[in-house]
Amino acid sequence: MRIFDPHIHMTSRTTDDYERMAAAGVRALVEPAFWLGQPRTSPDTFADYFDSLLGWEPFRAGQFGIRHHATIALNPKEANDPRCRPVLDLLPRYLEKDGVVAVGEIGYDSMTPEEDEVFAAQLALAVAHELPALVHTPHRDKARGTERTLAVVAESGIDPGRVAVDHLNEVTVELVRDSGCWLGFSIYPDTKMSPDRMVELLRRYGTERMLVNSAADWGRSDPLLTRATGEAMLLAGFTADDVDRVLWRNPVEFYGQSGRLDLADLDDADATFEGNSILRGGN
Ligand SMILES: [Zn+2]
Repeated sequence: MRIFDPHIHMTSRTTDDYERMAAAGVRALVEPAFWLGQPRTSPDTFADYFDSLLGWEPFRAGQFGIRHHATIALNPKEANDPRCRPVLDLLPRYLEKDGVVAVGEIGYDSMTPEEDEVFAAQLALAVAHELPALVHTPHRDKARGTERTLAVVAESGIDPGRVAVDHLNEVTVELVRDSGCWLGFSIYPDTKMSPDRMVELLRRYGTERMLVNSAADWGRSDPLLTRATGEAMLLAGFTADDVDRVLWRNPVEFYGQSGRLDLADLDDADATFEGNSILRGGN
């Protein structure tokens, strides 16, 4: 089983996770820029974070033969902090870099006027830089948040086929399906979407435009739940080709729209990262 995790925050995971993911069949992933828990107080710390998403993390992933890509954005939560707003001015420079395959995660956290502005501004950046957009939906008041999200996407003029709306569930799946956007589902260990519930949704709505991710971050989460979902699909009677479509070809098609997905020579794990010796057992 080859797996492409289209949404996982490796910054918050250990190197052991990379090792376990590689053993489970994860060959590629996309790490969206997000909130780091501790509030950031200056745009400079975002620049350092973005650099690590484009340098250090691809190197860590490469040690295990995993291809790492990133999405770059000012996340919805920190869009509310005036100290972080200047990050919007940093983005054009980052959105031109190799390895950046979408603008994200953007969207709503608490649905404030500040989030409205920053969401619309970043959809405009996606259009200007000809990149897809990865859109986070709020965990509270999800149905209303998703409706409002889709209205803003429609107003922006971006092609819905270049937008993935993430963290969906049974309540929001049809709204997004009707919009023409891609549908993202985050599988969690004990809350929200589970592998079995995901299989039910695939049975009901088919595999087209469906993206399954582990969204693993600082919280309780499991980077192997993509694999568990593939196993649950097979047990439920889906074919290996169906699993390959959902866990590999769909994310490749979605992020491939950036023109920057690099999946060539995936077996070559000989990455190099200047100045580093930690992963090789140095100091
Ligand atoms: Zn996320």
